[in-house]
Amino acid sequence: MARSGAHRPPAVERLLAAARPLLAGEQEHAAIVAAAQAVIAAERARLADGTDPRELAALATELADDLAAFADPLGSGLVGVINATGVILHTNLGRAAWPAVAIQAAAAAAAGYSLLELDRASGRRGARFRAAEEHLIALTGAEDALIANNNAAAVALAVGLAGRGGGVVVSRGELVEIGGGVRIPEIIRRAGARLIEVGTTNRTRVADFEEALAGGRGRVVLRVHPSNFVISGFTESPDPVAVATLAHRHGSLVIDDLGSGALLPTERYGLVHEPMPNERLAAGADLVTFSGDKLLGGPQAGLVVGRAGLIARLRRDPLARAVRPDKTTLAALGATLGLYRAGLAEAQVPVWQMIAADPGALRARAELVLAGLPAAIQARTSVEPMDSTVGGGSLPGETLPSYGVAVRAGSAARRLAELRHGKPCVVARIADGAVLFDLRTVRAAEDGALGEAIAHPSAG
Ligand SMILES: *Cc1c(COP(=O)(O)O)cnc(C)c1O
Repeated sequence: MARSGAHRPPAVERLLAAARPLLAGEQEHAAIVAAAQAVIAAERARLADGTDPRELAALATELADDLAAFADPLGSGLVGVINATGVILHTNLGRAAWPAVAIQAAAAAAAGYSLLELDRASGRRGARFRAAEEHLIALTGAEDALIANNNAAAVALAVGLAGRGGGVVVSRGELVEIGGGVRIPEIIRRAGARLIEVGTTNRTRVADFEEALAGGRGRVVLRVHPSNFVISGFTESPDPVAVATLAHRHGSLVIDDLGSGALLPTERYGLVHEPMPNERLAAGADLVTFSGDKLLGGPQAGLVVGRAGLIARLRRDPLARAVRPDKTTLAALGATLGLYRAGLAEAQVPVWQMIAADPGALRARAELVLAGLPAAIQARTSVEPMDSTVGGGSLPGETLPSYGVAVRAGSAARRLAELRHGKPCVVARIADGAVLFDLRTVRAAEDGALGEAIAHPSAG
């Protein structure tokens, strides 16, 4: 919607000239030019969204602030966001916040040396820090556990057990795209194995696996939890115990990719039951894989639990080294899993705090945000019920009853863009022409800043 050159951002040279007096002496010329180009590109985007042009002086100050941020100890360049979308595991916003103990554990691991791979008794090289894996063994009843960088890596590693060219049997109803264009058939191919499809999109039976497993064709049965879509209607999926029994009779392995997985029962919170790793092990899976940063609510990681002999084989695979998590991840994951063992997950893991949040309390917070708005905006804002989702490729179609504020003033798309460019940056959503701010995913400590941003969307 660029308005035919009526408003254009300044040229790089002009912006640089205006900013020169504000800059510290030693900054690299290339960095200054790149930052100026970024400021101009952002201004161009704002103008395209219909925002009024900003003064050259304001742009120059923004440029100087951006450059100063390079030397700021908290200035990683990653922009913090108030998530008012109501999507708890928002993949584009970095999924969930970590529990406080996980942040402290990661900071401590990052700050210095640790006995990461040194055996205290012998003083020799030992197994890599095992606390997180030991928690997983205790929480799932598995014989052993292994941690990879993310669940996609965990699946690739596990599927490798089929061997070069070995058959991996998957129901046609489970050949899913995980997200970001990553597809299960490609992961299998990339692992050097061969996909054997069975059944149909909507119906797969135990008998469909029989032929694929006969004569050792299928070395692995991979079951993929359809975590980001629902098939309904004329559907049928095979009994997991029967499939596992059949696979084992043919000497094949069963790997269950749960995607999110859950270590707390989701039905306790009014959601449909999300499969739990211990249930799948009990139903005959040899290995179960799931994510560290979906419903588990910790750092990005891929968790594999299951039979000790198979985990030992995965550990020896050179790919395991390539997808190995770093010490801060291991520390944060260990701390997060420790909360589950202590029975403190609902109280201290942000994902579960958000899932468990009481709609009445969210409504009360929304009333306070509304009451703090200037009269002119208040008149066009209301507290309304809305539906939050868990997101992050889990519990598709499931919603949690929530409350927030709805603003009906001017162009909703333009307000959304202004909020994204504000300080703090706020991400919200639009429904029926209104901008909705769902308080379930906003931390109570952010309510004041959210109100400010609603009142003055492009401040900062
Ligand atoms: C999300 C998901 C993955 C990938 O997990 P990451 O930890 O994001 O790599 C794999 N399989 C399924 C079924 C998923 O839902």
